[in-house]
Amino acid sequence: MTISDQYVLDHFDEAIVKGYIKAYFQPIVRTLTESVCCAEALARWEDPAHGLISPVDFIPVLERHDLIYRMDMAILSQTCAFYQALQDRGTGVHSFSVNFSRLDFTKPGFYGDVEGILDAQGVPHEAIKIEVTESVMFADEEQFQKVFDMLKAAGFTVWIDDFGSGYSSLGLLQDYAFDLLKIDMLFMRDFTHRSRQLVASIVKTSKALGILTLIEGVETQAQARFIKSIGCDAIQGFYYSKPLKPEDFLAFLSERAVESPDEKQYWNQVGRFDLLSLNPFDQGKAASTVAQSDIPLAMIECTWGRGDYVYANDAYLASIKSLGFDSIQALEHFYNDKISLHYNPMKNLLIEAVMKETVQEVDYVSGDVFYKFRAKCIAKSKALNKAMVIATLNTFREDATVKNMSELVQYSQALYASYEHVNLCFPDKNASIRLFSKANFQTAHQLLGLRDGIRSFAEKEVHPDDRERYLRFFNMDTLDERVSSNKGFIQQGFRIHDMNEVYAWHQVRITLVPTVMEKMYIYTIQAMSDISTRIAELLIREHPEMLE
Ligand code: C2E
Ligand code: MG
Ligand code: MG
Repeated sequence: MTISDQYVLDHFDEAIVKGYIKAYFQPIVRTLTESVCCAEALARWEDPAHGLISPVDFIPVLERHDLIYRMDMAILSQTCAFYQALQDRGTGVHSFSVNFSRLDFTKPGFYGDVEGILDAQGVPHEAIKIEVTESVMFADEEQFQKVFDMLKAAGFTVWIDDFGSGYSSLGLLQDYAFDLLKIDMLFMRDFTHRSRQLVASIVKTSKALGILTLIEGVETQAQARFIKSIGCDAIQGFYYSKPLKPEDFLAFLSERAVESPDEKQYWNQVGRFDLLSLNPFDQGKAASTVAQSDIPLAMIECTWGRGDYVYANDAYLASIKSLGFDSIQALEHFYNDKISLHYNPMKNLLIEAVMKETVQEVDYVSGDVFYKFRAKCIAKSKALNKAMVIATLNTFREDATVKNMSELVQYSQALYASYEHVNLCFPDKNASIRLFSKANFQTAHQLLGLRDGIRSFAEKEVHPDDRERYLRFFNMDTLDERVSSNKGFIQQGFRIHDMNEVYAWHQVRITLVPTVMEKMYIYTIQAMSDISTRIAELLIREHPEMLE
């Protein structure tokens, strides 16, 4: 039912005073996690005589009669109150977006009023996202620029709404540093090949400019899946939920994960990565494409000792199939399973990538397929104890070169298999590099540098009764002398954590590696045979001095 302009004008004042005009909230969902990261406040008029009136029926009238400002401030105020109510319940959504008419920006008191409403209710500026439509700039560009700059300087986030529906879209991106671009729902309504290509290129362009993206009007699973495949950050639409009354919104939240501020920061960092890049490890340099990338690409979230996939494209799924895994879940199980006896090149590489922040690479052979696994960390959060790694997994079938490489890699894998742990140490640089490990030692030791790393390792992984001896064994001040007066290496047995974190006897050896470049030692840990273990037990009881 449409309402006459006159009805709107006659009853607007009463509707504001009595609270008939209300903010409803539509959830906005983070594409990769599906948790609620924000909600948009949308005005609804619950009229006692006419029932629910849609904003399209009263907003244009209010705009024509210069009444919209009052309504927008009322919606902002309700949103702030709702934000606080949610915080008090401890189920907070930590950000809300609010729509502002382009006319609002022409009001001299606009900035002061917005700030006043937030400050009065104790709402932090970053909690409220200011949505403006493209047409806003036409009203008075100079005035808009002034307000825009003030808002940004005061820590507000400004979003551009209905992007792509007007004529000036691209120019706007050049002139204003918007934080997020809301792609108009018209692209989802059509959802043709052409509109999909357009959306993909808008997302790509935004990433290049450091702007986050959200798409509105997502109604189907197919649309949501497409949005995920192109790396758009957030989704809003009936697929997740309609705009809801505050009480229904609360009920919705109780069934969903809600994003914390730390998570928001982390995921916004992840969002800068372009999933469609032809050169995923060095973005910005490469030529680009709009089609889904043929590069087998995945995003893996790493916490200590675990890696979980949050994204994998079709090419990546094909690669892992050829490795013998039916699904991502099967692969995850394989390398998150701590007691697996296999040397796990993927897991090792992920750990290296998180520590080093440069591209890491490992070659691996399985059957007649040669793998190149590359990984790089793109986001890290100390607060969440998480890091996001992007990875590619290329497979090469056997040909002459691949065969040679395969054999070499296979042999070195075989060689490594007899060790628990192999490190290279550079005493002059106070650094070490892990070459191989099937143990569960904390990788943090290595980050401390060689000397502190040895102490930390002794503390965490070596049996208390063997610690002092272990530190003497590793004494860097006398190492050169001890090694050269022996046969180029020193070796002792210690009780060290095994893969199940139980102390077991291990042979530790430090060998000088002859290089001309810099002083380098190779440090290996090897399990002891049963008989050597019995001898070690005997010695430690009867003649501990003989172990040194
Ligand atoms: P908008 O800001 O682009 O808001 C999104 C509109 O799309 C909303 O319509 C929402 O209900 C609708 N929508 C969301 N998901 C879907 C979907 O999956 N499919 C379809 N077909 N529609 C979806 P609504 O609430 O009728 O608002 C219409 C417009 O009115 C808004 O467009 C906004 O421009 C304006 N508006 C709403 N509330 C306010 C307000 O408080 N102040 C101002 N100035 N304008 C407002
Ligand atoms: Mg909007
Ligand atoms: Mg919109």
